[in-house]
Order: sequence, then C-alpha cells, then structure tokens
Amino acid sequence: MNRDQELFERARRVIPGGVDSPVRAFGSVGGTPLFISRAEGAYVFDENGDRYVDLVCSWGPALLGHAHPEVVAAVREAAVRGLSFGAPTLAEVELAEAVRARVPAAEQVRFVSTGTEATMTAVRLARGATGRDAIVKFAGCYHGHSDALLAAAGSGVATQGLPGSAGVTQAAARDTIVVDYNDLDALERVFAEAGDRIAAVITEAAPCNMGVVAPAPGFNAALRDLTSRHGALLIVDEVLTGFRVHGGGWLGLEGNAYAPDLVTFGKVVGGGMPLAALGGRADLMQLLAPVGPVYQAGTLSGNPLATAAGLATLRLADRGIYGHVDDRSTQLQLAVGEALTAAGVPHVVQNAGNLFSVFFRDGEVSTYDDAKAQDQAAFARFFHAMLDQKVALPPSAFEAWFLSAAHDDKAMDQIVSALPAAARAAAGS
Ligand SMILES: *Cc1c(COP(=O)(O)O)cnc(C)c1O
Repeated sequence: MNRDQELFERARRVIPGGVDSPVRAFGSVGGTPLFISRAEGAYVFDENGDRYVDLVCSWGPALLGHAHPEVVAAVREAAVRGLSFGAPTLAEVELAEAVRARVPAAEQVRFVSTGTEATMTAVRLARGATGRDAIVKFAGCYHGHSDALLAAAGSGVATQGLPGSAGVTQAAARDTIVVDYNDLDALERVFAEAGDRIAAVITEAAPCNMGVVAPAPGFNAALRDLTSRHGALLIVDEVLTGFRVHGGGWLGLEGNAYAPDLVTFGKVVGGGMPLAALGGRADLMQLLAPVGPVYQAGTLSGNPLATAAGLATLRLADRGIYGHVDDRSTQLQLAVGEALTAAGVPHVVQNAGNLFSVFFRDGEVSTYDDAKAQDQAAFARFFHAMLDQKVALPPSAFEAWFLSAAHDDKAMDQIVSALPAAARAAAGS
C-alpha cells in the first residue's frame, strides 16, 4: 500500500468517505484520491511524493496558479496582523469596490465564506423582496448545498422539485421548480401557470457543473425579460465563472448586455481562501440586515486573510492573465479532441470562454439529460490513464477542466503528450 492508500484508509475511519466534499473521493472513477501535501504553480504534489500537472486548480480558485508568491505574501502580511476580528476592515471595503468596478450589476456586495451561503442568501433575499415563495432552477445547475437548491427534477418537462438529498423536506423542495436547461418554452409555461408565485429564477451564468453547457445565444437575456415581465428576480450564479472566464465574469464576457438583480461569486474571488460574495442592485441589497429585514450574518465573513487573498488575486488578474488562460484552453481543447478522434472515441468538447469539458458521447449537450447520456466508464479509463502519466483531471465526467496562468509550455507539453495513450485507454484498446 502506498502512502495515499494508507491515508485514505485512515481517513475513512474518522471522516465519512474519507473526504470533506464528495467528488474528492474518486467515487465515479474508482481508485484512491491523491492526498495533496503541497501545490505550486501548475503542479500538485501528493503524499507519495509524486508531482502531477493539475487540471483541478482547487475547482477554479487557482486562476493564477497555486501558491502565487504575491498572493501568499499578502496572506502572510495579513496573518501577522491578526487572523480574525469580527469587525469591519479596510480590505473588505477595497474588495467590495474591486468587485463593483469589474461587475456593474454588483452595486453593493456582501461577503460570506462559501458559494453555498451566497446563493442561499440570494434566495432568501429574493423571497424577502418579492413576498413570494417559489424559486425556479435548472436541472444540472449546481448552486451549493442549501435545501432549496438541492431539489431534483421529477419526470415531465417542468416539475415541482423533489428532494435532491435525504434530509431535504418535501416542503423545501416543493417551493423549487426545476426546468430543463436552455428550454425557454418550458420556462414560459411555468411562468404562465405560476408567475405570481415565483420569487426568482436562479441560473449558473454559464453552467459548468454538469460539464460545460453554455447558454444558447440570448438565453440569459431572455431570462432577464421573462422575470422582469412577471415581477420575479433574476439571480445569476457566477461562483464558478466569475473572475475566471473574464475580468467581469460571464456577464462581462457577454458585454453586460443584460443585468441580473442579484449575482453570486465564490472560488476566484477568494483566491483560494474561504470567501464568497453576494452582489446586486443597491435597493435589493439594502434589504439585508442591519439595514433591512432579511437576516444574514457570519462570524468569519470578510475574514482578513481571505480578503487579502481575494484582493491580491483580483489585482493580479489582468488582461494578460485571461489571454494566457484563454490560449491554453483553446490549445488543450483542440489537442484532446484530436487525440480522441484519432482513437475513435465518441466525444464532444464544449466550452464557455476558457472553461471547457469533454463529454464522452456524440452530439451537442444542451441539457442535463444530454450530459448524463455519456460513457462514464470511458471517462474513468481516460482519467486513470492521464493520472498514470501524472496529469490530474477532475475525477468526474461532469466537471470542467481548469487551467491557470501558471500552465506554461512545459506543463502543457506534459498534458498534451499524455493524451494519445489516455484516448486509447478510453477506447478500450
Ligand atoms: C462551487 C459552486 C457553488 C458552491 O460554492 P461552495 O463554495 O462550494 O459552497 C455554487 N454555485 C456554483 C456555480 C459553483 O460552481
């Protein structure tokens, strides 16, 4: 048994499944997760002492690469001044200003610690603002693990949600209506039937948690129109896309052609520390306590180490950084497509800006049902063949592949030269 295997066994005795977040357990690909001892630039090192090119990037935050020296220095400087105060700080104001400067829809910003809290608060705020109970979400969009947002689609086109997890009450799920992604007709039917009950539509700016499924052209703008017509709010979840696909997130990439009422951030905005945010129209944000009646709070909210990491990250994330990540992404999308084609593996590569994923099936994916109809066993073989060649992909066929500004020619060469053997493994030959 190697050290990772030993640790996994030990972890499973004291931590359910050995992990603190399910996908880390390698459940859908099998085998033993890497126990990471450190990370630097484009690489992670596991407890066996092996080095891997990392395509997880902490599931998004590591836009600049792991342990960027200037981000680490900012956190160090903050740490010696104190780890947590539970009081307002200059850095929170600066970070809120930095978010607003990049995302015009975020007129005011409230910091929290996780994306889950950001979307949960957005839902509560939407209900408080409209006095309505129902929320519409799309099948395959992930917004964290709060009860209302863990509703699963039932059968039928657009259905009253079913609990998406044990422990979610029927009542919580009942107020969540689940609609197929990219299906405007279904959404219009839902509004025609229940428009006066709907507090908000929540959507990923560009879904990346069922694999990458970009919105059809005009889809988000149509959500804006439809919600406005019915007096419902539009919540755009940029926890994954925000500050990653563009300095202004997906909204910025689409030229801020439409403005959501509320927008949520996480991942990159915290630069690798536990920090997330809710932003939106000032009149709505003013409904949050202490100004308004919608309660929300957090002992560690706006933590000084987290705001330091976030500020340093946003300041460094200039056009050059996004240009680099965009170029690397294009390069890798082409290379993986070529390798899979050469090996005769059915696949489709889809992107939303520099975020992309590979579906192991033929034909475009525009809904969660499409995404599920792929050959997950082929992905698992591909994944392990890459891992054998010291390239760490996200351990699920339903995740984006993450690049960073630290993925240089050397790291890219290692990934690209691993692809042909992995494609042959996927083909089962
Ligand atoms: C990761 C993610 C979340 C949840 O954020 P956590 O910090 O894991 O709670 C919410 N929405 C989207 C789109 C995400 O990708």
